[in-house]
Amino acid sequence: MKTNPNAKLDEDWKSLDGTMVLNIPFPEDWTDDELKRMKPIVVKFPYQVNYLHSYGQDSPWFAALSNGQLLGTRCKECGFTTANPKLACQECYTPNSTEWVKLPMEGKIHAFTVCYFGAEAFLDQTPFILGLVEFEGVDTLMLTRIVGLDPEEATLDWIGLEVKAKFTKLTQIKPTDVYFVPKS
Ligand SMILES: [Zn+2]
Repeated sequence: MKTNPNAKLDEDWKSLDGTMVLNIPFPEDWTDDELKRMKPIVVKFPYQVNYLHSYGQDSPWFAALSNGQLLGTRCKECGFTTANPKLACQECYTPNSTEWVKLPMEGKIHAFTVCYFGAEAFLDQTPFILGLVEFEGVDTLMLTRIVGLDPEEATLDWIGLEVKAKFTKLTQIKPTDVYFVPKS
């Protein structure tokens, strides 16, 4: 079977996805020395991978989040309540002992830090405030962004400050879909 030599070339062009570089100069009478002094060709093209990630049994937590609600889990054996999804109780270690519960939409700043550096996605937002929020009746804290306070004015007076949950308008099905702002 004859193969079309252009078929492979077409595929190569497609893989460049939007990048077309044409008519790169090349001397007719080249010397080895000239080619070795040639500046490197640099090609820029979009690169994308589809990443399939399952939230598994944590899925209800994210579904609630994208609907403006916060879920936690409570152990049916000992009552220990967490602000994040737990299948097994972290207090009494009973497996499959937890049930979903609604978290309060308000809490208090338990601790905070001002981030002047962060992961790539957050770099352009520095400085920002990361806080640990405590909820009444919940035994663990929630790590979350605190918005609406000036990071340059950070003060220990913020400890204990009442905050309420706010949700990003467009959900990304990520923990960063929720953040907290001062209650008043
Ligand atoms: Zn327990």
